[in-house]
Amino acid sequence: MERTELAGFAADLGGTKLAAARIEGGVVVERLLSPTDAAADPEAQVAAIRALLNRLGHSRGAPLGVAVAGRVDGAGAWHAVNRGTLPAILGFALEAEMTRATGAATCVNDAAGAALAEGLFGAGSRSESFAYLTVSTGVGGGLVLGNRLLSSANGMAGHVGFVSSRQASGPCGSGRMATVESIAGGRGIAAAAAAAGHPDSDARAVFAAAAEGQDWAGRIVATSAAAVAALIGDLAAVLGLDTVALGGSIGLAPGYIDRTRAALADEPELFRPILVPAALGHDAPLIGALAAHLRKENP
Ligand code: ADP
Repeated sequence: MERTELAGFAADLGGTKLAAARIEGGVVVERLLSPTDAAADPEAQVAAIRALLNRLGHSRGAPLGVAVAGRVDGAGAWHAVNRGTLPAILGFALEAEMTRATGAATCVNDAAGAALAEGLFGAGSRSESFAYLTVSTGVGGGLVLGNRLLSSANGMAGHVGFVSSRQASGPCGSGRMATVESIAGGRGIAAAAAAAGHPDSDARAVFAAAAEGQDWAGRIVATSAAAVAALIGDLAAVLGLDTVALGGSIGLAPGYIDRTRAALADEPELFRPILVPAALGHDAPLIGALAAHLRKENP
C-alpha cells in the first residue's frame, strides 16, 4: 500500500485525549481534538467519536479507522487492560457498533495502529525488527517483525507497558505490580508527583517544572525515561530489535528522547537499537487505523 492511497477518516481515543481526522493522500488535512471522558461508558465514547467525525464531514460508509487505548480482540471487542485508564470499558463490541453507526469501520489498539503506520511509511519502513512505543497516559507498543504487525486473538500482543520494571514498585491498574506503565506513563508520573508533595501536577506540569530546573520533577522524568530505556533493552533481547520509534505526548515531549537515549547508553551495544521519534508524530495512530481499515477492505 502506498501512503498516498490513504483517504478517509480516523479517530484516536486515548486515556487523555480524543482526536479525529480527515485524511487525504496519506496526510491529515483536518483534525479535531477533545478531552477524553475517561469514566464514560463505551456507548458514550462511541457518541463522542461520532460527534467529531460528523464535524469533519464524515458520510455514512466512508473509510474509517478507529484507534483506541486498551485491547481490541480478534472479534473486534474492546476491553480496558489498565482499569485505571478507561474503567468502564469491560468488553464492548466496538467494531460491530462503530460499523453499525457509521457504515464501515475497523478498530485497532492505538499503539498497534501507530506501529503499522510507522512500519509501512515511517521510522520502521527499512527495519526488519521494529517496535513503536507510545509514552502517553500509559505506555503502549506495537511490534513489526519482518514487515508483519504482531497480533494475538485476545488483542494483548504488543502491550509492552505491562512488563515488570525495576524502576517501579507500586500497583498497576492492570492488576500487576511494578509495571513500566505504572512508573513511566502520564498517570504514573502524576502519581509520583503527588507522592513528592505535588498533588495537582499532571505529567505536562511535571515536565514544565523539570524544564525550570526543579529537582523533584527532573528525577521523576528521568525515572520514566530510565524505565522506558530498560524496556527497550528487554525488547531488544527478546526480539532482536534494530529500530525503536517513540510516540505519545510524553515520548515526543522536548528532551524526553534524549533522556531515554542517555539511559539506554548504559546498556551493552546489542541491547541498544536505534531510537528515533515517530516519523508521523501524533498522526501515527490515525494514519495506521485508516491503513488497517483499507487493508481489511482490500486484502
Ligand atoms: P493519550 O494517552 O490520550 O493518547 P497523549 O499522548 O496526549 O494522550 O498523552 C497524555 C499524557 O501526556 C498526559 O499524562 C499529559 O499530561 C501528558 N502530556 C501532554 N502534553 C505534554 C507535554 N507537552 N509534555 C509532557 N507531557 C505532556
